[in-house]
Amino acid sequence: MEKTNFSTLPWWRKPVRMMRRDYVSDFRPFIQANLDSLARKAREHWQVNCEWVMATPGCAPGTAHLTLFNTPRFEKMPGIGAHDLLREYLPHVRRHGIHLLAYVNMHWYSYEFADTHPDWEQLLEDGTAYGHKHPLYGGGTTLCVNSPWRDWAFEMIREVMRTGVDGCFLDGPVVYPGACYCKYCRRLFKIAAQSSRLPKFGDWNHPLWKRFADFRAGSWARFMCDAQAAAREIHPGAVMFLNGGGFSSHNLSCAYDAARMESCQTFTGSEQFFHCADGYDSPYKTLNLARFLSAGKNPGVVFTHHGLSTWHYAPLPPAEMSTALAQTVAGGSNTWFAVFHEAIKKDAREALAPLETTGGFIADCDPYVTGDRSAAETAVLISNRTLYYYLTRHHGLCRDVGSGREAGLVVEQGGTQQKGDLRQRREVSAEILDHENQGCLDVCNFAHVPARILWDDHLISEKLRGVKVLLLPNAACLAQKQLAAIERFVRNGGGLVAAFEAGMYDEWGDPMSRQNWLRFLGIERIKGVFVPSRTEDYLTLTTPLDNIPADSLIPRPVHGLAVRAADDAKALAYYLNPINKAYTQPKGVSDYPAILATRRGKGCVVYLASPLFDAFDRFHIDAHKDLARALIRLAAGRIGLQVETDAPGSLAIEVREQKGRTLVHLVNVTSDMKRPMGQIVPLYDVPIAMRSKATRAKCLRSGQPLRLKRKGNRVCFRVPKIRDYEIVVLSGT
Ligand SMILES: [Zn+2]
Repeated sequence: MEKTNFSTLPWWRKPVRMMRRDYVSDFRPFIQANLDSLARKAREHWQVNCEWVMATPGCAPGTAHLTLFNTPRFEKMPGIGAHDLLREYLPHVRRHGIHLLAYVNMHWYSYEFADTHPDWEQLLEDGTAYGHKHPLYGGGTTLCVNSPWRDWAFEMIREVMRTGVDGCFLDGPVVYPGACYCKYCRRLFKIAAQSSRLPKFGDWNHPLWKRFADFRAGSWARFMCDAQAAAREIHPGAVMFLNGGGFSSHNLSCAYDAARMESCQTFTGSEQFFHCADGYDSPYKTLNLARFLSAGKNPGVVFTHHGLSTWHYAPLPPAEMSTALAQTVAGGSNTWFAVFHEAIKKDAREALAPLETTGGFIADCDPYVTGDRSAAETAVLISNRTLYYYLTRHHGLCRDVGSGREAGLVVEQGGTQQKGDLRQRREVSAEILDHENQGCLDVCNFAHVPARILWDDHLISEKLRGVKVLLLPNAACLAQKQLAAIERFVRNGGGLVAAFEAGMYDEWGDPMSRQNWLRFLGIERIKGVFVPSRTEDYLTLTTPLDNIPADSLIPRPVHGLAVRAADDAKALAYYLNPINKAYTQPKGVSDYPAILATRRGKGCVVYLASPLFDAFDRFHIDAHKDLARALIRLAAGRIGLQVETDAPGSLAIEVREQKGRTLVHLVNVTSDMKRPMGQIVPLYDVPIAMRSKATRAKCLRSGQPLRLKRKGNRVCFRVPKIRDYEIVVLSGT
């Protein structure tokens, strides 16, 4: 393979493939093992170049205060004797070119240990310790980042670093939902907010609730910055990071904020463990998370558990393991997996085969993923401010719409209109938002629209370079300067697709009138909301869009704003008059537009009065995906979509670039139609046309060169076979 010189990069800026062997509480198999052979296996069979070894174990009854290495300052884990897992393993991993990180449990302590430091525990507002009301993993408690425990923790980190490891992964601390109301937090919040009144947890009526949410995230970030500094006192190049969450409305209660943590850690990591689920489970969750984590300045890491959901001693099926690895790399992040010792023992070869096959391919691709970045021309704003503070002002959105299931002559159609108090409004807001964000990314995946993710602070020219269309999946809580950046982007020729309440609240979630912004979106005024419905309500196009005819009935998303269009906006679709009852005759088209398109400067704004992406995530209907794709194409203008193909939606296409070449990542999740997937079905002879000036193409996995045909500003090629993962390199640009 071609070599690119990235030798000046620190090791963690190059592709990193991490793993952790789990021994739970019995470390004898590790102590008694031939350590050199363990390290060699990790490197040669599993392609690992960074291994984690536990410095403090993460097992019952909460063992974060015990060490698996020798230190005069802390208590040793019983049964380890004189062994020092870190110092003993270090020379072996070094010999095999593996960096060693220490896993440091920072969240799960036994009650006995906590009793020796009674003021260190995280407290709920009634004064009970969090871990006494919610025992961790069945037993054990957790400590507060603002208490004097922090100094204990930093000393632990220094001691870990003295073993010679390359850095630490901190498993926690976690700022748990409902916490913390300890005396240290109270004191610090009083100074920060100039008030001695602490809000009840989740009390949206309290003037300081959002301030308290912000304080919690800030406290955690401050802890991480000090932890990083402690590690670097011992080793200036120490790597430090934690499991920091992804993009969900739970970010608020768990104090997750990837952007805020960015300068306090080396990697931005989060877990995407496979869970067996009752209902639909998007096959692209790892890809979406990988894009989110790699959107910032730090390299991303997706943590993939090799255990099968809640059965940790049964391995994840190979198809799930291989797609998790492929999606992680396609999304621009680094891989990580954990295996339980028992699982490795029993069924090693088959269960871990993807680490040798797909993992081996990924390792061979190092030169093609080093220093790369997304070249997707569509950007999706995932607004953490909105995840934190979005609380719709519309009481009418709070209504139970049921499942819609019809059986035994009974339709489950809900129907209870709720009062829409603050708690209910937050619940419905969070539900819409979680569906919108996942649905928007999945619409792009299933529609073959390569997408990059932007965080709140990324609405700047450097990050928008190369972006043709910006999607705002109900990014409701935006600062005025973000709106100005979006307007500038459009007036300079960009396309915008904004959904539902995008930009209608400020960055603290306060409802704003923002007449100029509404006008920019093509809205004259908002009259109210439609009654939430998932039964017999539709929208219909006024003009054909791509392959969707003008008169077809498209199922209406559950929610909808009733808006009046501005004079210069063109209504592309209208809502039908609401029915919300099964087996009822349609009642004609309403006066309310569902989609508006407006020219603004050199660009185009498409406004969706409904959360269309939410509908795709709930119902997975192709009409919603096709409509979204047609609107993205419309917003892009004459230049059109970046990629065209007739491949099924079960092939995700991600476009990344290095200097002088483009990497087209093809992740195939075509399978036996269930999750966990049992088998990937290969795709053959897949035609792809994409905007590019390339003159040469080849498949990295098969090694085959591909014939390129030029059609205008596009190159067209056919990929002969795609198993789980292939990368096409386009060069000669
Ligand atoms: Zn506290």
